[in-house]
Amino acid sequence: MTQHHTVLIIGGGAAGVSIANNMRRQDATIDIAIVEPSEKHYYQPGFTIVGGGAYTLKQTLRNEADLIPASVKWHKEYADSFLPEENAVVLRSGDKLTYEYLVVCPGIQLDWHKIQGLAETLGKNGVCSNYSPDTVEYTWECVKNLESGTALFTQPPMPIKCAGAPQKIVYLTADRLRKKGILDKLNLEFCNAGGVLFGVPFFCASLG
Ligand SMILES: Cc1cc2nc3c(=O)[nH]c(=O)nc-3n(C[C@H](O)[C@H](O)[C@H](O)COP(=O)(O)OP(=O)(O)OC[C@H]3O[C@@H](n4cnc5c(N)ncnc54)[C@H](O)[C@@H]3O)c2cc1C
Repeated sequence: MTQHHTVLIIGGGAAGVSIANNMRRQDATIDIAIVEPSEKHYYQPGFTIVGGGAYTLKQTLRNEADLIPASVKWHKEYADSFLPEENAVVLRSGDKLTYEYLVVCPGIQLDWHKIQGLAETLGKNGVCSNYSPDTVEYTWECVKNLESGTALFTQPPMPIKCAGAPQKIVYLTADRLRKKGILDKLNLEFCNAGGVLFGVPFFCASLG
């Protein structure tokens, strides 16, 4: 089956729903569609404070349906391939969507398997990550139970979902340890694969 839309948005994350809502506010008549397979929408910046213990995972969760304007057509599906010469996108079901304008925002995929052994140990053995709803609650469990030893924080090279996130959890952890009066009992190490502490020089100066 083939359907046509004036504007076709791939991905209903922060970018996709913002674009759909903004366009709809500007023009009530334009034919807009979103391709998004998930019924759940996570506010990912909130994951930092879930890991830091100030927010629950549930507080970051919204129903995707509540974020897509009723007059925007939602295809609950994966985009499978792009046919730019036909102005078309083929969905996993085999259906085809054609467009006049295409917005591609399917986010960043987490490739845990590209680091040897990571997928096997993530979520246990004191190995945690704030980058996924599946792993972030375990970060808080680890932080909460820190009493002594070394806590290692890592920042991979770009592209990553949020350049500040790896540092923010270090500061939140240090703050928790300070409040518990045990900061001096722990060694916090931040291993940064990037060239600078933060890409914006104004902030970098005070962080360094
Ligand atoms: C821990 C953490 C902290 C962060 N902190 C901040 C912060 O403080 N400030 C800030 O500005 N940003 C922050 N960010 C970054 C911010 O969350 C992202 O930049 C933002 O979510 C990116 O939006 P997006 O729509 O591009 O991708 P996403 O929000 O990841 O959405 C992508 C969507 O595309 C869908 N999708 C994937 N594949 C397909 C497909 N084949 N077909 C159709 N749909 C598909 C997915 O289901 C998903 O819903 C943080 C991120 C994390 C993880």
